[in-house]
Amino acid sequence: MGNTLEGKAVLVTGASSGIGRATALALSEAGARVAVGARRADRLKALTEDAPGEMLALDLDVTDPESVRDAVAATVARFAALDVLVNNAGVMLSGPILGADTAEWTRMVETNLLGSMYAVHAALPHLLASRGAVVQISSTSGRTASAASGVYAATKFGVNAFAEALRQEVTAQGVRVVVIEPGFVATELASHLTDPAMRAAARTMADSMRTLRAEDVAAAVRYALTQPEHVAVNEILIRPTDQT
Ligand code: NDP
Repeated sequence: MGNTLEGKAVLVTGASSGIGRATALALSEAGARVAVGARRADRLKALTEDAPGEMLALDLDVTDPESVRDAVAATVARFAALDVLVNNAGVMLSGPILGADTAEWTRMVETNLLGSMYAVHAALPHLLASRGAVVQISSTSGRTASAASGVYAATKFGVNAFAEALRQEVTAQGVRVVVIEPGFVATELASHLTDPAMRAAARTMADSMRTLRAEDVAAAVRYALTQPEHVAVNEILIRPTDQT
């Protein structure tokens, strides 16, 4: 894969809102053919109608390995290749460890960590054939853990670890691995928090700063994917200027 996205085949997971949606649009604008996967089909349909280029909507639940395999197969069936996987689907159900609902832990691990691993597993043969790229949407929480974000941070540390192992396994075959670590982005992510104190903290944080917009993260993804072939942008840490 060279430094242009023109005609490239891309799959973005979790593209029905936020960073995934903005990334799908940015890559479509750059000339890529983009398959967009998520569970909310109505959102994906609206996205394909807004897209500047060819876009394919796919029913996708990343917690289900068969659904992930089907989405990769449908992308390759439509575009005859897969050049880029953007592993973005994720949930953040923060809260303290004491008294936590462990079903929320399971959901985070299955979505953020296992889901992104399933996607790499299914996509890798195609990415090796195209000398393509994997973009992992991690987080600042993949670098630093903090109170009440233990499990979310564990999933993102896991994403970073898996990405580094993947990088070492495929770099000789020309596949590039990119980890993006955003700070606070204004999206629907915090709307799924069930702990009232966590919801209030997220609101206070959002009100206290000029947050990143999903489009800012999408621009970072586009930057990494449009470098010359000999340049691997392996990691981008991107925070709101106002975030300490
Ligand atoms: P959103 O809630 O707006 O988007 C999350 C996306 O993930 C949705 O499209 C959702 O689609 C999808 N998703 C969730 N569960 C599944 C599933 N089981 N299968 C398929 N898709 C799923 O939040 P963001 O855009 O903020 O989040 C995107 C990524 O960015 C996440 O990995 C998040 O951890 C990361 N991130 C976000 C930050 C922020 O401050 N917002 C900061 C750092 C990282 P649907 O529900 O339709 O399936």
